[in-house]
Amino acid sequence: MTTKKTLNELANTTSVCDDYDPNSMPVAQAREYIKAFLSPVQETERVHLHAALGRVLAEEIHATHNVPNHDNSAMDGYAFNADDLAQGTTRLKITGAAFAGNALTGKFETGACVRIMTGAAIPAGADTVIAQERVEIHGEFVQLNDAPKRGANVRYAGEDLKAGQVVLNVGHQISPADLGLIASLGIGEVTVYRKLRVSFFSTGDELVSIGSTLKTGQIFDSNRYTLFGMLTRLGLEIQDLGAIPDDPVLLEKTLLKAAENSDVILTSGGVSVGEADYMKQLLQKLGQVLFWKIAMKPGRPLAFGKIGNAHYFGLPGNPVAVMVTFYQFVRQAMLMLMGQSNPASIPMLNVVCTSEIRKLKGRTEFQRGMLFVDEDGHWQVKTTGNQSSGVLSSMSQANCFIVLEDEVGNVEAGTLVKVQLFDGVM
Ligand code: AMP
Ligand code: MG
Repeated sequence: MTTKKTLNELANTTSVCDDYDPNSMPVAQAREYIKAFLSPVQETERVHLHAALGRVLAEEIHATHNVPNHDNSAMDGYAFNADDLAQGTTRLKITGAAFAGNALTGKFETGACVRIMTGAAIPAGADTVIAQERVEIHGEFVQLNDAPKRGANVRYAGEDLKAGQVVLNVGHQISPADLGLIASLGIGEVTVYRKLRVSFFSTGDELVSIGSTLKTGQIFDSNRYTLFGMLTRLGLEIQDLGAIPDDPVLLEKTLLKAAENSDVILTSGGVSVGEADYMKQLLQKLGQVLFWKIAMKPGRPLAFGKIGNAHYFGLPGNPVAVMVTFYQFVRQAMLMLMGQSNPASIPMLNVVCTSEIRKLKGRTEFQRGMLFVDEDGHWQVKTTGNQSSGVLSSMSQANCFIVLEDEVGNVEAGTLVKVQLFDGVM
């Protein structure tokens, strides 16, 4: 692959060279090129755990102590030493009680047992817990009829986290489980990368912002709202610069304003390759921008590059194409720019498709799909019907993409297809 070339060299490549063909760019190759030209955020800040969800760690989290920090009981029951049953004993005297968070009352003695609650520290000398449901109580004695194995129902110190181990790495995005994990170490603040600043605007003379009335040929700008939603879900600092008419002066002003204080600029519309539109000329003048026709449907045109220090993504104008290209290219790039070292790809599942799909080989199609449970309780997928890239209602109905890769042709009903879930971004 030609990713060793600079963005500038690629931007000035007019003819097809090596395996770089801007007019027929496979999806996977576009992803690789984008990855090669990303400069992630470097600045960091300290935040309280409450503000850390979705942020990307800029420090390693170490276990400062064992979690749990003492052997403890996994059950409400009785703690004893298995050696005391080895002599054939089945009755043990209760000589104490251990409650979670409290010191042992009474004491543990050889040949005896203590009442113990879930989470309470195992008294020194005891090594096994029997659940209360499995014993009979006779006054001060416990009768064990079927004793568990040595070590049963004991949770060991360090079984979750061992003192000194690396718990989370730099570049890890903090999930709800991670918040709990960090809290379990008693850590209340973490160092994360600062939020990514993203500016976005729509382009098109036909666009009207909500609040006005439509004249003939005009449409309401919906892309700014789908983008707002997807960017918000990624946890970015966003700036909405409005709907800008196809006017070179206004477009240039807006692009320069966006480049001044953003890490990323996103636009929709006006980047179709070969069109004599102002966006393309402006982008060539103001930065180093690549114009691709991706071998995919929907979402063929995509522009990518830099304007000043800001990364630039020029998404197509069609409402579904905007969402598809965002999900397939921009989402992962954003995660990397946010500081994630290696964002996981969205899992693909093989699911039986109940719809027949007509598909040309040689391009990747992202059909809008609906995963549903059939009468037998099996998950299956069907398409939403009309796959036109202007039909946004189908994105709203869908809960997944049916991903038909380059080599896939027509799909018969009842065969397996690859499905990519909407991952909380859409
Ligand atoms: P373009 O890429 O600018 O040629 O636009 C392709 C199609 O998407 C046209 O039908 C546009 O009217 C439509 N479109 C472009 N921008 C938006 C937008 N912000 N909201 C809704 N539709 C749009
Ligand atoms: Mg347009």
